Amino acid sequence: MSATGEASGTRPDSSAVAEVVDLVSALIRFDTSNTGEPATTKGEAECARWVIEQLEEVGYPTEYVESGAPGRGNVFARLPGADPARGALLIHGHLDVVPAEAADWSVHPFSGAIRDGYVWGRGAIDMKDMVGMSLALARQFRREGTVPPRDIVFAFLADEENGGKWGSQWLVKHRPDLFEGITEAVGEVGGFSLTVPRRDGTERRLYLVETAEKGLGWMRLRAKARAGHGSFLHEDNAVTILARAVARLGTHTFPLVVSDSVAEFLAAVSEESGLEFDPAGPDIEGRLAKLGTISRIIGATLRDTANPTMLSAGYKANVIPQTAEAVVDCRVVPGRLAEFEREVDELIGPDVEREWITELDSYETTFDGHLVDAMNAAVLAHDPNGRTVPYMLSGGTDAKAFAELGIRCFGFAPLRLPPELDFTALFHGVDERVPVESLEFGTRVLEHFLLHS
Ligand SMILES: [Zn+2]
Repeated sequence: MSATGEASGTRPDSSAVAEVVDLVSALIRFDTSNTGEPATTKGEAECARWVIEQLEEVGYPTEYVESGAPGRGNVFARLPGADPARGALLIHGHLDVVPAEAADWSVHPFSGAIRDGYVWGRGAIDMKDMVGMSLALARQFRREGTVPPRDIVFAFLADEENGGKWGSQWLVKHRPDLFEGITEAVGEVGGFSLTVPRRDGTERRLYLVETAEKGLGWMRLRAKARAGHGSFLHEDNAVTILARAVARLGTHTFPLVVSDSVAEFLAAVSEESGLEFDPAGPDIEGRLAKLGTISRIIGATLRDTANPTMLSAGYKANVIPQTAEAVVDCRVVPGRLAEFEREVDELIGPDVEREWITELDSYETTFDGHLVDAMNAAVLAHDPNGRTVPYMLSGGTDAKAFAELGIRCFGFAPLRLPPELDFTALFHGVDERVPVESLEFGTRVLEHFLLHS
């Protein structure tokens, strides 16, 4: 992949493009592993302080906020725009990453190694890439005295990988003042390219813009029955009752639901490729597989899912315990929550209770308006063969929290990717890495976008 697709008129590498790779590498060197447990999660504050240094070095006033627990560091900075009457645009990225098992990797996951045209390490695509790109642009804009069309608020956040409990969710609840005047937001997971074959034998790069997210719910199931001796006849066994419910739920296929974002995505792919994706037709999952690994995400947005992930019961081999518990990771299509809960209740039966441990709503916005036009123009300016399309993310991001404040959210962290790269497998995967050229391309696109937002 080279930069030969550059439109004419692009100026030579700006300072953001020149430093983005080093910034991303430096960010990766902070081990900001989020274990989900506050006691063992580390590094966010240290990383946040470093981000502050980068911002203050070029003259930004910054605000450091700990979100409800010591060490959960967040950073906010604002660049004033030409028209203060227009709502501000939030550019957000999370500083935490999921843990990595160093023994499994080709390079140390917190080395930030720059090798073979990639920056390697945990967070390279989720999401220290976008953090580095926005930090590089924030610095460039300030250095050059750039005045964007509207205020831009840069936010660097804690705890996204645990649903934002000690990050975005806390901030939205306890510090809504930080978001005052913000009408729209851009963060992960979107803006990356998907190369699809066209009918005429050429290829088209689709840039997937996230306009929707499934709801995220972690549900605890609990069966209570009679404790007893493991040698007796015992019909009323909590482990058996729970296991039946878990098996029914885990093997259930929820009904096919095609949300607007998914329908628009499938229509665009059909238009380009000639492949038919009539969701009502047979074997939609099989046909989606022709799109390659992105079908993992798209397929998962066509229905609710409920995957059992944790089981616990018992304390001694010859004691039938009184309770048994399971945790199920539920992802629910927008508009489906009530119906989903009804189906779950039917599947688990009256002897198993359920409760939400975490429950974050789904989110969907339309793919239109000024900001979408700006994304499209920015992509086209730097990749004339590109086309932006909306899609729904099967997972969740900090956008869920900001949407609660009425902010319109998009996932747009632009990356032009080599077609052979299995991008989706890199999320939380081994040997997570991002192409150097993709970072440089993304920075140019993001710059164009922010200057026209
Ligand atoms: Zn992320």
